[in-house]
Amino acid sequence: MTKIAIPNDYPVELAAPDISVYAPGNCGVPYIWQFDSGVAGPNVMVSAIVHGNEPCGAIALDWLLREDVRPIRGKLTLGFMNIAAYEAFDPADPNATRWLDEDMNRVWGLDVLEGERDSVELRRAREVRPVLDEVDMLLDIHSMQHLAPPLMMSGQHPKGQELAARVGVPEKVVADTGHAAGRRMRDYGAFDDPASPKAALLIECGQHWEAASGHLAKMATARFLVALGVVAPELKDRFGDDVPAQQFFRVREAVTIESEVFTFARPFTGGEIIAKAGTLLGHDGDREVRTPVDDVMLVMPSKRLWKGQTAVRLATRDGA
Ligand SMILES: [Zn+2]
Repeated sequence: MTKIAIPNDYPVELAAPDISVYAPGNCGVPYIWQFDSGVAGPNVMVSAIVHGNEPCGAIALDWLLREDVRPIRGKLTLGFMNIAAYEAFDPADPNATRWLDEDMNRVWGLDVLEGERDSVELRRAREVRPVLDEVDMLLDIHSMQHLAPPLMMSGQHPKGQELAARVGVPEKVVADTGHAAGRRMRDYGAFDDPASPKAALLIECGQHWEAASGHLAKMATARFLVALGVVAPELKDRFGDDVPAQQFFRVREAVTIESEVFTFARPFTGGEIIAKAGTLLGHDGDREVRTPVDDVMLVMPSKRLWKGQTAVRLATRDGA
């Protein structure tokens, strides 16, 4: 797979917590912790570090575990995912350890999970899969390359948007279908089946290493668990209720790179709303990439501008 060699423009404010104490797990899978209230209710999971260089999720899980937060209803499942990449994290080269062999958030198609391919990330995905199969509601915590407004990625079905509305943060919720390069954990199995009540969210808490992303990871986790009735409301009260009304968007298209050389027309960071249809966004080889309609929001322009990858996704306003 392609090695990640990307210069870093941002200070590393967050310290990645030492999670080695969590290695044993308590349900038969390393780094997975599960607590059963003994009372009927959903199995609710919060997952972190699917990408090894995104410490905010580990900060949120470390916080829950240190505080001995336990469910009052249903089951609480906490999962540290890409351990190998997380352990390789180096603040001096923080972009290098998003993954080791391949992107762990592109391996969740059944064809890949059950296929012949092998990688550090696939081995871990296959190890965690039986746990994930039992989960009813998932919050998968991520962060972004650029300093940009946080986003809740709700998947393509209304159940994801409804769950995002119950969590209530962050301000921007984006309905989307994922990436051509492979299926995300958020879209695994029943989570992406409109006929199933199971649902999943992927939160992008802000820039990977900004202090605010650690705070939002904890706040969103607390609100998610309280909204589902799995933990007592006090967990959320610590963060206050003063949050802006949410705005809902939907990805209209993903710009998937078709050439060997993709360049953006401007240094976009994401969250920009481009007023006019036909505005030049970049060049994919000789092909001009322009906004298809008015009022397009740019979703997470990438620095990994390689053939087959998503360069940026284009969203417009959507009903809640
Ligand atoms: Zn991520």
